[in-house]
Amino acid sequence: MNEMIETLLNDCKGARIIDANCNIFDARRLFQSLMDRDRDSKRAGITPKDVFEVPLKVHFEYTSQCNMDCLFCYNTSSTSREQGLDTDEIVRTIEEMAVIGVMEVGLSGGEVFCDQKLLLRIIKMLNDHSIAISIKTNGWFLNERTVEKLSPYTFQSIDVSIDGSSETVHDRMRAKPGSWRKAIHALKLLKEAGVYSKAACLVTGENVESLEDYIDLCFYLGAKEVMFTPCIMFGRAAQNKDRMGLTEQQFEEASSIIVRKHLQYRGFMKTYLALDFGYEILSKVLLTQNSCVIRSDGSVHPSCLIPISFGNIRDQKLKDIWNSGLNRLLTKKEVQDFVSTLKFEKTATLRLLRTSLTQDVVHCYHA
Ligand code: SF4
Repeated sequence: MNEMIETLLNDCKGARIIDANCNIFDARRLFQSLMDRDRDSKRAGITPKDVFEVPLKVHFEYTSQCNMDCLFCYNTSSTSREQGLDTDEIVRTIEEMAVIGVMEVGLSGGEVFCDQKLLLRIIKMLNDHSIAISIKTNGWFLNERTVEKLSPYTFQSIDVSIDGSSETVHDRMRAKPGSWRKAIHALKLLKEAGVYSKAACLVTGENVESLEDYIDLCFYLGAKEVMFTPCIMFGRAAQNKDRMGLTEQQFEEASSIIVRKHLQYRGFMKTYLALDFGYEILSKVLLTQNSCVIRSDGSVHPSCLIPISFGNIRDQKLKDIWNSGLNRLLTKKEVQDFVSTLKFEKTATLRLLRTSLTQDVVHCYHA
């Protein structure tokens, strides 16, 4: 395994990587220092000497039901309801999370506000157990009444997806007329209600030219953070690759706009690029793991970007799945094979570390 780690670190040497504070690093040096810090925190007893025996954070995509059919949806969520987890399975999983001591849960789908009764039940359960909650939403169902129903609860953040500075771009990408106006309204309502909220934007070939105006709009709307995510080429995004992908030049442009605006609004609003593919994958396999993703079919994965299922909460306990290798990723042959398919791009200019991650690398550990 040490040999594999050394190969990974050497492979990404010279590639540029950017963190959430828009600092730019050489990828190898960054990961070497993160691994050193990881080791020091184990020695100091801040984190367990070996591995976490339960996940501390769970991203729970508990439904694939959605009121939209976005061109870029990596989950292929849609208006046509597919057979996902049922209410009992969802509730049982939340109960297990409370028992084993999960500390943070991110809720998404699908669109979680499609079934508000279920969402409120989940929020109440998590709040009662003092588990921190964050939510991702397209904002369509957030009106005064809905926000009022959320008011008894505490949220780490509610993120509203807004994909452009005007309705033309956003509504086209979301294939839903009126969706931009609803999302803008949702963000305003959350701000008025004092809920910490982020504007989440997927950077694609369709909106890259208007990013600057978009960031200014978010500041005007009172967002605390603007989070950009590159499009993951899974699901419907892979089917619409030509429109959703970015050229090299567009990628450069997007990166420099985000860094520039980050500096402009520093101290007032945080602007950053999240889920850098390379950063996400390398931190998963090189550092001590504390989180996982549960998909709407119940399968459990290390991350949205490592499509290897380690089990299913329909017939297994989350804790058992976690201890079957999710907390020791590089010991699994399937993960080693997956990692060895990645190519890290190296350029001398400002670039995020990117990988050749595509739809072709979808695995199921249990298949
Ligand atoms: S991207 Fe979000 S809003 Fe769009 S279809 Fe997928 S889950 Fe629904």
